[in-house]
Amino acid sequence: MDWSLLGCGRYGHITFAPAEPELRVRLHAQLADGEAWRCLRCGAFVPGKPDLSGPARSAPVVPRGREIRSKFILRLFALERFLRALIFAVAAVALWRYRYSRSSVERAFDRGLPIVRGLFRQLGFNIDHSKLVGLLQHALTLSNGSLTLLAAGAAGYAVLEVVEGTGLWLARRWGEYFAMIATSLGLPLEIYDLTRKVTLAALALLAVNVALVLYLLITKRLFGARGGKKAYAARLHSESVLGAARLAVDGTEEPATARGQVAPPATCGQAAAARDQAAATGDQTAATRDQAAATGDQAAATGGQAPATGDQAPRSAAESRSPDPAARVRGVKRGY
Ligand SMILES: [Zn+2]
Repeated sequence: MDWSLLGCGRYGHITFAPAEPELRVRLHAQLADGEAWRCLRCGAFVPGKPDLSGPARSAPVVPRGREIRSKFILRLFALERFLRALIFAVAAVALWRYRYSRSSVERAFDRGLPIVRGLFRQLGFNIDHSKLVGLLQHALTLSNGSLTLLAAGAAGYAVLEVVEGTGLWLARRWGEYFAMIATSLGLPLEIYDLTRKVTLAALALLAVNVALVLYLLITKRLFGARGGKKAYAARLHSESVLGAARLAVDGTEEPATARGQVAPPATCGQAAAARDQAAATGDQTAATRDQAAATGDQAAATGGQAPATGDQAPRSAAESRSPDPAARVRGVKRGY
């Protein structure tokens, strides 16, 4: 699945005109009926004026490909967190209210239990030994102090899950750290719980939490894992359209004499590997998928000459743009 294209379909293309001439020529194409600029997300050339312009370092960081998929996965985890928060918030309110209407709840329970018991007996079940009924009966005997403590605990956990969910939903670095630490702290308790009794629900919850911790640690490189924040930022940069253009420029600007001579092999290899990666992640998507990108690349490679057949595909790209350029720019500034 092409997550960059999905992102552009949702939020519209986002084009940027860098002030640096050597980068500008790689992001710009002159068409027969006007100019086109390369989308920072999907890499396609989009006809019309650029949405943004300025020095390359002022360009917005636009999530692409794997990064968009990662945001989607984090949002699934966030939804699970919000669901937990809702369940615990309801439990907290129920416990709190029970303190004040204890007698009526007890009456309702005593009235309702025989009916429910009879109903289940008809179906062949005996709920007298059910864990849930035992738990409810136990709750009815709790003192007001214990109820207050339980309600406060449930409310606190609900707040924790809301913060965790919000951080994951926004895909902020603090949120990822918060979610990872909070989830890790709960793991020993969950494992201890499983040593006492193995249930499907407990196993599923533990699996979700372990998956989240590992996912954050590995893909977001938290706590210095796999090179930490620096390596994460470097990967984002190398996968960006501007980063790929910069790497390509640096590659072509490298003096011919230096390349073939005694440059340290590691540097040469790294530069070549970085260029290859940039070409694979940055250029390939656009060049293979979109004719507009292909003709645009050609234009950039030949110094911005007008491609003869380049106006058909860009027009279809233009149709997929969201009507409001300001909204697109706002969306990108929010991290989409
Ligand atoms: Zn796009």
